[in-house]
Amino acid sequence: MSLRGVTVVAELAAGTPTGLSRELLGLARRLVAEIGGQVCAACPGADEAAAAELIAYGADKVYTAGEPALAEYDSDGWTACVAVAVREAGPAAVLIGHTTSGADLAPRLAFRLGAAVATGCVAITLESGVLRFTRPCYGGNVRETISFNTALKVATVRGGCYDALQHDPRRAGETITVAFDKTARRARVLERQRDSGADVRLEEARVVIAGGRGLDGPEGFEVLAELARELNGAVGASRVPCDLGWCPHSMQIGLTGKTVTPELYIAVGISGAGHHMAGCGNARNIVAINTDAEASIYKDARWGVVGDYRKVIPALVEAIRELRATQGRGKA
Ligand SMILES: Cc1cc2nc3c(=O)[nH]c(=O)nc-3n(C[C@H](O)[C@H](O)[C@H](O)COP(=O)(O)OP(=O)(O)OC[C@H]3O[C@@H](n4cnc5c(N)ncnc54)[C@H](O)[C@@H]3O)c2cc1C
Repeated sequence: MSLRGVTVVAELAAGTPTGLSRELLGLARRLVAEIGGQVCAACPGADEAAAAELIAYGADKVYTAGEPALAEYDSDGWTACVAVAVREAGPAAVLIGHTTSGADLAPRLAFRLGAAVATGCVAITLESGVLRFTRPCYGGNVRETISFNTALKVATVRGGCYDALQHDPRRAGETITVAFDKTARRARVLERQRDSGADVRLEEARVVIAGGRGLDGPEGFEVLAELARELNGAVGASRVPCDLGWCPHSMQIGLTGKTVTPELYIAVGISGAGHHMAGCGNARNIVAINTDAEASIYKDARWGVVGDYRKVIPALVEAIRELRATQGRGKA
């Protein structure tokens, strides 16, 4: 396998590349500027329009299975299809978003291709011709930088670490349909259900309001949902409310949950443990609402309100509504 080029495994949302996939294409372009080769995107379910978008965001080649059934992630199908694409592209590295699907795919793909894998990376750099992968470890308290001896490296990358390139519809690229062993798919997806209330995808939301143990019960999430509706945001959680069954695990943010990188992250009743901050520390603005003025979340927060969320959030909702009424504007 040559040591040139980077392949990005791209995920789609509503038929277009997710924000994280666009960021990975941006990172891949920066890396190939140094190591040479092409930026390829492996996107098993991409149709013509999705492939054109991937090219507009930086891909030189798009590998697709042309299978609408693979538009949504499927472990066996994606592993088989992406493995064929990577063998054809022959890159130095494969970049995958650190999402639930990406974390499932990366080790499978690495094993299939005899590659090394680094998960949850926050930086990928090139030093003296060697790719280095930086990732949080020990509960997010320290970062390690590693390199591998294998020719091919597979990495999952967290959101918000790199900028996407400007969308350029004039960029030229090629779409290749790969043939893969369809019998590799041992499971069939019969039905998919969205979590109730998940109108805005957590990983894509520009505003995230997250609740912790301080909410003191599932009812607290209703209070957060009201604020989320006003701000067109998504509701997330620390691990504690998920473990206690106050909300689904799909809402968990942190080292063992999702990574979010919104413009605004409002942490409500969350102490700010390293395990939690590993999933939201790259948010542009963090606002904390906590009864304890000494809570460590205030070290990361740009603004904070010390107080009981039961009083603070309704007051905030009311203030937003008043502001809108006086300015005569619609929803944010
Ligand atoms: C291997 C491992 C992985 C982990 N992964 C994750 C992860 O992915 N995500 C994650 O979140 N955690 C994770 N954890 C757990 C993590 O270490 C913390 O225990 C957890 O984040 C604490 O959650 P919390 O802030 O909601 O609760 P607490 O630490 O108990 O904080 C509750 C906060 O609420 C405040 N509060 C109380 N009442 C109110 C009120 N009425 N109004 C406003 N504020 C109030 C309190 O002052 C306090 O600061 C992990 C732990 C381990 C060991």
